[in-house]
Amino acid sequence: MASKRDYYETLGVNRDASDDEIKKAYRKLAMKHHPDRNPDNPKAEEQFKEAKEAYEILSDAQKRAAYDQYGHAGVDPQAGMGGFGAGGAGMGGFADAFSDIFGDIFGGARGGGRAGVYRGADLRYNLEISLEDAARGTETRIRIPTMEECEACGGSGAKKGTSPTTCPTCHGHGQVRMQQGFFSIQQTCPKCHGSGRFVADPCATCHGAGRVKQHKTLSVKIPAGVDEGDRIRLSGEGEHGMGGGPPGDLYVQIHIKPHPVFQREHDDLHCEMPVSFTVAALGGEIEIPTLDGMAKIKIPAETQSGKTLRLRGKGIKGVRSHARGDLLCHVVVETPVHLTERQKELLRELEAINIRDGSKHNPRAKSWMDKVKNFFAS
Ligand SMILES: [Zn+2]
Ligand SMILES: [Zn+2]
Repeated sequence: MASKRDYYETLGVNRDASDDEIKKAYRKLAMKHHPDRNPDNPKAEEQFKEAKEAYEILSDAQKRAAYDQYGHAGVDPQAGMGGFGAGGAGMGGFADAFSDIFGDIFGGARGGGRAGVYRGADLRYNLEISLEDAARGTETRIRIPTMEECEACGGSGAKKGTSPTTCPTCHGHGQVRMQQGFFSIQQTCPKCHGSGRFVADPCATCHGAGRVKQHKTLSVKIPAGVDEGDRIRLSGEGEHGMGGGPPGDLYVQIHIKPHPVFQREHDDLHCEMPVSFTVAALGGEIEIPTLDGMAKIKIPAETQSGKTLRLRGKGIKGVRSHARGDLLCHVVVETPVHLTERQKELLRELEAINIRDGSKHNPRAKSWMDKVKNFFAS
């Protein structure tokens, strides 16, 4: 790469040239060196490619900034600078959303003089785990489909003993110009789909793709405290790159199965706690489940439905939290059912005493009745 010409020099413009000046300079060079005007002239073709590449970088504000800062290493997909590789964009929708910052900036840098070198696509794997596993952390094995480099042809896509040639339609540019009236429209080459290479005799194993679908099994460590939607990145476990490009990443996306007892809210757990009518009135102690096993919880006397009882530290310690959350038990007082005659008799006796004492034992019912009366009186 050391021998590569400076992009500004290639276009013959100053480093502070405006977008317009760059465009004009490129147009002039492109007209002069275009392969259609210079048939069978490899020097002109090379100059055309150089100008095109320089223009592709300098006409894009982000790429130009990267080039100004890092030189060719900042924008060249073959420079092999890890994160600076060509983005996986275009290799699949997921890559667009999740490729890292450099992938986003340089993504889609296809075609040009460096056709055929791509970072592999990122992959996503949806993993469903139980609430208990999410709270404690776990290790699991996943089997993922992946595109691996074809061993039979070493990724070239060409039959053994042959190798790909420069695409005859686009002369290796990956793009073709279509003349429509006054306009010249640039399109991805229909023959090579932008790779710039043409395989006359395709490999029998991969049918010319250079890659084959395979499965691999990976071990994934799930840290304690993960929550719905969290992603675990397995660097380099995505799809293989093409033409020597780096592989993509694999993102394991966590989904938590609904739990029969608990609902999670950040680091807290919530559960509904039915309490018998008598225990609610007299108070008592009941056993409730927690993620650490059964625990006892005190029910104060005269507890009403809707009251929340908090067990500190019985929630979940989130991945980024310093302490465990709480368990919040929402009291639901249960009216007794399937009563025997004896039970009914006792309840009637209780009700008679309640009525005799006026509204003392049911202040809520009394206050509600008062509101109803006022409503009809007004
Ligand atoms: Zn082509
Ligand atoms: Zn092959």
